Amino acid sequence: MTFTLLDHYGVEQLVYCQDKQSGLKAIIAIHDTTLGPALGGTRMYPYASEDEALEDVVRLARGMTYKAAAAGLQLGGGKAVIIGDPKKDKSEALFRAFGKYVNTLQGRYITAEDVGTTVMDMDYIHQETPYVTGVSPEFGSSGNPSPVTAFGVFQGIRAAANEVYGSPDLSGKVVTVQGVGSVAYHLCGFLKEAGAELIVTDVVQEHVDRAVREYNATAVGVNEIYTVPCDIFAPCAMGGILNDDTLSLLKARIVAGAANNQLREERHGDLLHERGILYAPDYVVNSGGLINVSDELQGYQRERALNNVAKIYDQLGTIFELARQHSIPAFRAADMLAIHRIEQYKKTNDYSIEGML
Ligand code: NAD
Repeated sequence: MTFTLLDHYGVEQLVYCQDKQSGLKAIIAIHDTTLGPALGGTRMYPYASEDEALEDVVRLARGMTYKAAAAGLQLGGGKAVIIGDPKKDKSEALFRAFGKYVNTLQGRYITAEDVGTTVMDMDYIHQETPYVTGVSPEFGSSGNPSPVTAFGVFQGIRAAANEVYGSPDLSGKVVTVQGVGSVAYHLCGFLKEAGAELIVTDVVQEHVDRAVREYNATAVGVNEIYTVPCDIFAPCAMGGILNDDTLSLLKARIVAGAANNQLREERHGDLLHERGILYAPDYVVNSGGLINVSDELQGYQRERALNNVAKIYDQLGTIFELARQHSIPAFRAADMLAIHRIEQYKKTNDYSIEGML
């Protein structure tokens, strides 16, 4: 059963971690290390069953392989899950026990923060292994990832505008932003500076008020955000929001935002394509977070990290070109590019995407 699942997702290695004393039950999935060590966060979640945790970790690990490959990084993909409630089950002993397991992999897997884990948890892991990112500043951390992720999303929106309107200039463009939390707050700053008009929504009134006050944004209701006439729709809250209920409502020419897993199903990406809406693949648009944290592996330098994040613009340009050439949606072209990079490297030890276009 497990091997069938590993085969289906193409996972290289699975590590089950159990420490009776601290109560640790974790699974590390190393999906693919062709391009480099498998970097991916540790999620802590009260999974209802071991099967649910396993399915989640292999799916997320594969996602990290594609993300790193499509972003042009020399990294593989991996992920870890700790089965437990982050509100009740955390302890120093638990994360240190987990860190010992990470260390046994000697850098084949490098961990980071994810849903349910924090900088403090990474610091505990760091006491047992150097193979961890997102630690406290005194250990060489890259700090809060949100502004950097936002900068990458902004580059992604510019690239999409260039593809659709023939110019990355956003002045006068109407951008609707769903969720103005950590990433989107900074994104709105970049968009405003570029001359875009902002329409925002959030379930937290305080977040809406902040965007209205600081960026002169117009506030709309949480359901209204799909129907407002605009040029660009930027989903920056939760996943699955491009679905049967919302697609027919969209007035935008472009969908590009920070949220993970925006398509409820892949067919919704095909439907957007058929409707002539450019959906910029979420995992490339939001890869600034990964690019930033991966810079820690060389001794973090902010300027170098930002320069690399700015390359999301060109990376998406390549993906859009590939999509045009093959008459496929951009999200499929991103997968194609990721797979091609990995396969090419296996044959030639060449990280580039030469010969692809
Ligand atoms: P966040 O929690 O700070 O912001 C999300 C915002 O969405 C919050 O303000 C929340 O109130 C709002 N929201 C929740 N449900 C909503 C709804 N139904 N309608 C409207 N607003 C709603 O999270 P974040 O760190 O800004 O991340 C945003 C998205 O980007 C997430 O999907 C995250 O996985 C993804 N992402 C974040 C980073 C990063 O560096 N933080 C990196 C890559 C991807």
